[in-house]
Amino acid sequence: MRTISRRSVLAGGAALTGIGLLGGVAAASPARVPVTREEHRVVVVGSGFGGGVTALRFAEAGVPVTVLERGRRWPTGPDAETFARPTRSPDERMIWMGSVTDPFDELATPLSLLLGALGGGTPLGALGRYVGVLERVSGLGMDTFCAAGVGGGSLLYQGMSLQPTRELFEATMPSELDYGLLAREHYPRVARMLRLATAPDELVRSPTYAAARAFRRRAEAAGYDVEKIPMPIDWDVALRELRGEMAPSYTNGDCSFGVNNGGKHTVDVTYLAAAEATGLVTVAPQHQVTDVARTPDGRWEAHVDRIDSDGTVLEKKILTTPALVLAAGTANTNRLLLRAREHGTIGDLPDGLGENWGTNGDRICTWTSLGDDFGTPQGGPVVYGSKDWADPATANTVIQASLPPVPDLRTTMIVGYGVSDGRGRYRWDPVRQEAVLHWPPDGDAALTRRIHERMHRITGPGGTFADTTYVAPTTWHPLGGACIGSVCDAAGRVHGQRGLYVLDGALMPGTTAACNPSMTIAAVVERATDELVATDAGTVF
Ligand SMILES: Cc1cc2nc3c(=O)[nH]c(=O)nc-3n(C[C@H](O)[C@H](O)[C@H](O)COP(=O)(O)OP(=O)(O)OC[C@H]3O[C@@H](n4cnc5c(N)ncnc54)[C@H](O)[C@@H]3O)c2cc1C
Repeated sequence: MRTISRRSVLAGGAALTGIGLLGGVAAASPARVPVTREEHRVVVVGSGFGGGVTALRFAEAGVPVTVLERGRRWPTGPDAETFARPTRSPDERMIWMGSVTDPFDELATPLSLLLGALGGGTPLGALGRYVGVLERVSGLGMDTFCAAGVGGGSLLYQGMSLQPTRELFEATMPSELDYGLLAREHYPRVARMLRLATAPDELVRSPTYAAARAFRRRAEAAGYDVEKIPMPIDWDVALRELRGEMAPSYTNGDCSFGVNNGGKHTVDVTYLAAAEATGLVTVAPQHQVTDVARTPDGRWEAHVDRIDSDGTVLEKKILTTPALVLAAGTANTNRLLLRAREHGTIGDLPDGLGENWGTNGDRICTWTSLGDDFGTPQGGPVVYGSKDWADPATANTVIQASLPPVPDLRTTMIVGYGVSDGRGRYRWDPVRQEAVLHWPPDGDAALTRRIHERMHRITGPGGTFADTTYVAPTTWHPLGGACIGSVCDAAGRVHGQRGLYVLDGALMPGTTAACNPSMTIAAVVERATDELVATDAGTVF
């Protein structure tokens, strides 16, 4: 990294950049904010699956990389208390910059309702501004949950890691991607990096996994196949918790906002740790990119706020690079690119930008049963799932997940997701001054019917399920907007924009084929970086 200049200016002097103070977290800033200019070989925005894979594979090819991440680092290990425990100590660590209090929200989210009710009445909206781990991005008809922190979504995802079959993949994913190659090379590479493993029987037999066993029993009685879901987890940690060797985190379901004890092979401790070990990768936490721009000489600028933990802007940076990789996750990559289009900082972006966005068919439900004792606490995060993948048009997966430790309400969580042809799109909102998702009310109707039919059969006559997605439409799996084909090629190169890449969930065509997205995002980026290392390194950057 080469620092070109550094000076202090009035906060409003950010207009020196030609762009002005934009979006982002923009809390009250000190009166004088220094502005720094730097040049970098490759700048990656975001440190989740796309950013982590990119950083490692470029560094292994000898290319230095700077990763800008808006969130903080979250170190874990036995008996750590890094992450908030939602029902025992809910606090601002859970939420990115108070984003559940967005003034445009009209409804509480299921998450808010549940945790507000169970967490001693602390409404999530009352939490202060902090670089917390979960952001809620409000849209019209659909809100999106996305992660913040070094490691991105891997910090708070359950970790379900599924690979689609060839049939499903070819029916839903872009024809530019060769399933045979991904299945031979890239999916297995991701599985090795994340050290995927299923929960051991010894754990599942323990009293705290009664809900997982009930799901299996009920789903099999309804005639469905059930299998263990591969997870990026060292299950020995959970077994050690059961033996009382450390405070519970997995085994009491207290892991929905991060696993304190470690043993979860998140991107920060796998891909990014290996990338940093090369000596060629710098990860810069609490660096929020507010704008991206093309320079007159065809290079790229990232305009960055270095922020304090409450969002106060400590420094403004302008990073110039021949290669800018957007890996900020679907919602934020779309927001950055559409902002650049609206403000004219990048001309001639492809017409399809912001379109072909999907929810991956997420349905988040509670399951209450008089006939099954799910017990409390409930071991987590996820053991079993049931795939219904025969028809690629409505293929879906239903899983059981633990609730955080709560009084025994004879309730657990079941979640469905799958293939749906419902699509939304981002549009520029002149009032909010940002790109906002528009989603049709019945977007996932056909898939929802199929998932509900399966849940109805699984929960049986003595049980009932409630689909919280009706209360407040939200998804954990936002996908699309900068899709392969219409906006990017298969290696993430944005059409007509030499040196600008998208390498994250925004590349996916609104679905990852009845599978949770992380495996496919990581595998597609593994494939893309193979190609970029072979062709663009040394020519474009
Ligand atoms: C509660 C929950 C549970 C989930 N469970 C699963 C699961 O079990 N299995 C599964 O496969 N998927 C799951 N997912 C989805 C999964 O986490 C995402 O699909 C995946 O993380 C997306 O990867 P990505 O590389 O596109 O972006 P992310 O992993 O989201 O990474 C993007 C990163 O960019 C950073 N960033 C954003 N904007 C900026 C900016 N302007 N400047 C700097 N940095 C920025 C963010 O802070 C974030 O760290 C879950 C998601 C949630 C919210």
